[in-house]
Amino acid sequence: MSDVRVRFAPSPTGELHIGGARTALFNYLFAYNTGGKFILRIDDTDLERSRPDYIDKLIASLQWLGLNWHEGPYCQSERLDEYTREAERLVAEKKAFRCYCSIETLSEGRSTARRESKAYLYPGTCRNISPEEEKAYRLEGKTPVIRLLTPDQGITVVNDEIRGEVSFENAGIDDFIILKSNGLPTYNFASIVDDLQMGITHVIRAEEHLSNTPRQQLCADALGYNLPLFAHVPMILAPDRSKLSKRHGATSVEEFYSEGHLPEALINYMALLGWAPGGGEDEEIFTLEEMAARFDLNKVIKTAAIYDVNKLGWMNSHYMRVYDLDKLVEAALPFFEQNKLIKTPLKNQEYEYLKLVIDTVRQRTRTLVELAEASYYFYNDDFTYDEKGVKKHFFKENTVEYMRKAAAKLSNLESFDKDTVERQYSSLSEELGISTGRLIHPTRLALTGRTAGPGLFEIMALLGREKTVERLNKASGYIEQMYA
Ligand code: GLU
Repeated sequence: MSDVRVRFAPSPTGELHIGGARTALFNYLFAYNTGGKFILRIDDTDLERSRPDYIDKLIASLQWLGLNWHEGPYCQSERLDEYTREAERLVAEKKAFRCYCSIETLSEGRSTARRESKAYLYPGTCRNISPEEEKAYRLEGKTPVIRLLTPDQGITVVNDEIRGEVSFENAGIDDFIILKSNGLPTYNFASIVDDLQMGITHVIRAEEHLSNTPRQQLCADALGYNLPLFAHVPMILAPDRSKLSKRHGATSVEEFYSEGHLPEALINYMALLGWAPGGGEDEEIFTLEEMAARFDLNKVIKTAAIYDVNKLGWMNSHYMRVYDLDKLVEAALPFFEQNKLIKTPLKNQEYEYLKLVIDTVRQRTRTLVELAEASYYFYNDDFTYDEKGVKKHFFKENTVEYMRKAAAKLSNLESFDKDTVERQYSSLSEELGISTGRLIHPTRLALTGRTAGPGLFEIMALLGREKTVERLNKASGYIEQMYA
């Protein structure tokens, strides 16, 4: 057992974004690779934006992805006393101080900074206030914030596991607030207090937090703890290198679920957003266990990862094809139910039929949504014929005659398995002196309303004799009526 401890610390202010999910995954992979512990922490001190239902959703999304944690979830909102205690300790040790400046007092400096397009830095007004001044402020009813006393000069170096050394000028870091006047900690303070108290050894998180890290390091120094190691993983950008947003399609795990992706595919896809496993070039399909065995922070790239929806689709279609069939049926049930193809609970026979349908259709579909959509004609007779298909395959000379003959031939069959119907079609095409394609295309359109799909004879076998014959005759009737 190693002493590695990592954490995923989402804020429950929205659905789990692909970036967050990828951070969770990298933490998970690192923990499992090193035999360490993966901890889930909920950063919910932003009381206005945090919502309990988002916590439930975050948890559901992580569980759906299979990213199980060893400890937690710990909620920051339940640890407020810790932050107060640590902040008070820093005040007592003169490493932090109370600041009574009102927003108005500081606003002049703020406007000047804005005018000069500079970042606002707190001028240190309350660094050295006397106990008497403090008392007076308190009598005036002022509630202070607590600020960390930070060095004015020198540099703070972040030693990032992925990016190497990154230096920050201390002159650019003011005495920032660690505890707000309402008693709540700021993100930087709560985060590092937790990381330190929870014995986190590696902080693996999004690149956007790199600029927070010097502040957290200064807090850690003041608190007198050893620093964890930091690793900031690259951003995920849209194909046009802009920030990934709704206009690029699904961005949250919930949306990927609703679009009919399989968790294994999403996990596999996300892992390759920033992690270059090396080895064989076209080696891209990995299980979670395989990824955990190979994961290495040294192989996480520094540059932004580009989100490619086609690649995800390709990966999902791969997983759809190789998935355990019962598992796929289970994953597909809600989608079939949503499309009103089935109603759960299924009877045994219905389940077996669904299984055959899914096994037939899954070869050519990319998502569970497509799978359900492409299974429509197995459950419904009321489909319309594809317009182009009608022109191309129905309105050709002799089609009605061929369809009628095919229907007649099939209607006498005792058994109706794939091979038997296929043989009938071969012999009929020979008898008629036409290619099998000439029979197959209009038949497909008659049976499914579509011009493409799974193997026609498998479809026929699944539909069974009666439905097949009925649909062939119905199509013949339709063509005759259109010609009349
Ligand atoms: N709650 C922060 C976020 O969701 C966590 C950042 C961190 O990992 O420290 O971005």
